[in-house]
Amino acid sequence: MTYLKSFMALSLILFQIFLPPFANSSVYNPQVAEMLSEANPHRWMGWVRALSGANPIQTADGLEKIMTRSSLVMFEPDAKPSAFDYLIEELLRLGFVEGQDFQIHNYGFPYGDRYPQRNWKNIILSFQGDDPKRKNEHVLFVAHMDSTSDNEYLIAPGADDNASGTAGLLEAASILQHYRFGRTIDLIWFSGEEKSRIGSSSFVEDYADWLPNIVGVVNMDMFAFDGDGDRCFEVHAGTLPGSQEIGNLIGSVIEAYDLGLTYDFLDDENAYPFSDHDPFWKKGVPGVLIMENSFYHPDETCGKSDRNYNYHRTSDTISYINNDTGFSILQAGIAVVAHLAQPLPQKLTGTIDISIPGKAIQLD
Ligand SMILES: [Zn+2]
Repeated sequence: MTYLKSFMALSLILFQIFLPPFANSSVYNPQVAEMLSEANPHRWMGWVRALSGANPIQTADGLEKIMTRSSLVMFEPDAKPSAFDYLIEELLRLGFVEGQDFQIHNYGFPYGDRYPQRNWKNIILSFQGDDPKRKNEHVLFVAHMDSTSDNEYLIAPGADDNASGTAGLLEAASILQHYRFGRTIDLIWFSGEEKSRIGSSSFVEDYADWLPNIVGVVNMDMFAFDGDGDRCFEVHAGTLPGSQEIGNLIGSVIEAYDLGLTYDFLDDENAYPFSDHDPFWKKGVPGVLIMENSFYHPDETCGKSDRNYNYHRTSDTISYINNDTGFSILQAGIAVVAHLAQPLPQKLTGTIDISIPGKAIQLD
């Protein structure tokens, strides 16, 4: 062996030893890697803080805190500040236009006989696909915006459940708007989840013509608590074959983008149904729930349950959020949605500078 050959052989060995983990993964996509690098944990946490009342928001009347996102409160005309109004304002601030980029889905107030004039609302923000053959196929990225507690008319911060997901979709929106995809991506903020999932149930009825074209639903619900710090979460895929494929993709993106997470994978009848993916499952539409380690699953990865003991209590506040683990799980969700939507190489121009929410607000 010549000196040159041995040098080359040594280089090859060193290259293989120090090869970054993603290079071995078949799903790695440079566009998606760039998206994940643009995700901003401070911006995400800024929205979590605003939505859970940890930080005030700017309103017409000055600085005020969102005390509850209960569906019983946030659509009431005189309940201010309204979390729903805040979400709409943030979408406008990000440059989205109502009627063009996003639409409001009104559905019947469940106590309609008592308050026939009121509706509850979902928000649907769409990024049209650019592949003529694929643009009629939809990838849904969803989270419930509402919260609850044993005192939900007055205090229901729901920082984990589910300001984490509500803010997560805002974070996704601010990134995805700069990229092009073959398929159409729809981000949906559901209300009424804490009232028997009436928002998502109404959606699958009122948008029934979408259902055959939905290739997958990724539901982010309560994923930012990690009391034992083991970075292990739960993926509930259920028994539809398409859901299991999406679940498998989660494992691939964790490896491909080196997210340092592990998870329990529930691809049988033990999968948790009580969130907004279930109305889709019932219609045969594939989807997964991404959630923190709330349950003990024998023979799975996370071990004992690491449940947020503030669940549905007035103490579900920012203090119990693990922003490192939560942010990585959000990145996994964004990556899965991006892959399902088939990213196209060319990035869009005309980027908008998106400041961190509440950064200009001075706290005393
Ligand atoms: Zn929830």
